[in-house]
Amino acid sequence: MITQHHEVAVIHTLTLPTPFAVGDVNAFLIEDEKIILIDTGCKSTQSWKVLGESLEKAGIRFDQIDELWLTHAHPDHCGFAAKLQKEYGVKVGMHAHESATKLKGTRASNYDRFFRASGVDEVLIKEMLRQQRWYETFYDDFESDFFIKDGDRFSTGNSEFVVKELSGHSVGHLGFFGNGVMFTGDILLERISSNALLSFNPETGERIDALARLRESLQYLETLSGTVYPGHGDFFANPANTAHYHLSAQDRRYQSISKVVGDHPGNLFELTQIVFPDMHLPHNTFLCLSEVQGYLDRGEKEGFFMKDADGNYRKS
Ligand SMILES: [Zn+2]
Ligand SMILES: [Zn+2]
Repeated sequence: MITQHHEVAVIHTLTLPTPFAVGDVNAFLIEDEKIILIDTGCKSTQSWKVLGESLEKAGIRFDQIDELWLTHAHPDHCGFAAKLQKEYGVKVGMHAHESATKLKGTRASNYDRFFRASGVDEVLIKEMLRQQRWYETFYDDFESDFFIKDGDRFSTGNSEFVVKELSGHSVGHLGFFGNGVMFTGDILLERISSNALLSFNPETGERIDALARLRESLQYLETLSGTVYPGHGDFFANPANTAHYHLSAQDRRYQSISKVVGDHPGNLFELTQIVFPDMHLPHNTFLCLSEVQGYLDRGEKEGFFMKDADGNYRKS
């Protein structure tokens, strides 16, 4: 555990195990007049044990936590929201869109429709749905006690945190900023580039331009200084440099995907198989399709690609 004193509030980093490829996930405890937990780790026996031990080291009991703020509702971040709320009276806050998309089983139909229209192989669609159900075993459903939106301000007693919507990795992803520190969930990681995952507006069912949103979030972080407490990995300084690095890497990926679209016009599935030959591996499929679709959206928006009625992309 790393404990940092930032003027008035004490921040404890709670590093928790996950069974996912990304490895450990961070939750954070802000110790002030109020006690705030940011994210919870995924629901597993091992993770609960480590969370309990970490709290004990910080000298804090579960029932002393006033509020849980969720950066986003992926299982590695919201796994114990239901348990903390029901058993310890912790009030849970998150973005309304994130809240609306997290209910188990609710996401399947939009994805199913989209993948079919994009020419994705039936076996792979089934496998992605199976994976989704597996992910859903790592959290329990819960209702938010309050919604959090861009521009909200929360006092923890001696410190104030401002909320910034940083979507793109998920539809209602949030960042919390105060006292020169920022909790950025999965939007800004030092060593891993954040995924712009395929997602849908929970109100309209329309697909969201995830990569464009992710880039807006990174462009915002590119203007900041301070200490970043990320969802995965150690804390780091200089968000601007890290955001710039990821934006530049995206520009290079965009160039290489543009070349593929020029050489081999096709639908999302065909193009993804060329860009990522190992996209058929179970853990890769959804990530690879998400990534390629992001750049197809970008090319279409910038006028470099055209999409026909059959869902095939070509250079304009
Ligand atoms: Zn995530
Ligand atoms: Zn994560």
